Amino acid sequence: MEFQGKTVLVTGAGKGIGRATATMLAARGAEVVALTRSPSDLDSLKAEIGCRTIAVDLADPAATRAAAREAGPVDYLVNNAGTTALDSFLDLTVETMNHLLAVNTVAPMIVAQEYARDRIARGLKGSIVNVSSVSSFIGFADHAAYCASKGALDAMTRVMANELGRQGIRVNAVNPTVTLTPMAVKAWSDPAKSAGMMNRIPVGRFADPDDVAEVILYLLSDRAAMVNGIAMPVDGGFMIN
Ligand code: NDP
Repeated sequence: MEFQGKTVLVTGAGKGIGRATATMLAARGAEVVALTRSPSDLDSLKAEIGCRTIAVDLADPAATRAAAREAGPVDYLVNNAGTTALDSFLDLTVETMNHLLAVNTVAPMIVAQEYARDRIARGLKGSIVNVSSVSSFIGFADHAAYCASKGALDAMTRVMANELGRQGIRVNAVNPTVTLTPMAVKAWSDPAKSAGMMNRIPVGRFADPDDVAEVILYLLSDRAAMVNGIAMPVDGGFMIN
């Protein structure tokens, strides 16, 4: 019960990695504040783990800031919510680029600002995990907006770690490979594409949401007290191949 007595805000807690993280945190004693878009997901998660719930569209900056304020105070933050879109670079629109930046990069900024301001005002330490992707390191075809949004998230994570680390708040990113969630089905359902990806993963499989959640919980916790500012692949060795 490592997180007994701790409160944790998890964005995108309705499905996939966020839901696995929220469930694992609750199983290890945390009180979870679940923030996501679909009320039905929040209702089912609340029935499972007894969390507090907030429904918001993270593409809306003003609503995101209000939701982040409503969510606090919490001890830890997991900025997990993210979305993707598949367009060739030449077909990519400004609207799509701005939408992915809004959800994948700007929303984590806003939520982390509200979290960190509260921790600093109360003289408390803390920890933030931003859920990025191996897409921040690799130029995957048809993922220009997604790769750009995650590359920006990693860069922002390093600045956050530098500035907030001095105030006792560690900030790290996790960078999963393909993880078997609804988003992965959207991006990797083409067998030709997924086979190429799988062949580069030495452990021979895609990640499960729990594989990623375990690393998120580690980085969040005091077990990682000296880890700050990293972008940690959770990729079965994809990045070394
Ligand atoms: P899913 O699509 O399975 O779940 C994403 C969650 O985020 C959903 O609950 C979704 O809610 C929520 N969300 C998405 N957009 C918004 C929004 N605008 N406002 C509020 N909530 C929103 O994704 P994954 O679990 O696969 O992804 C989680 C994170 O992991 C993301 O940041 C993703 O980029 C990253 N990642 C995923 C990988 C994968 O292969 N799955 C690989 C590498 C990184 P709703 O369904 O209601 O929209």
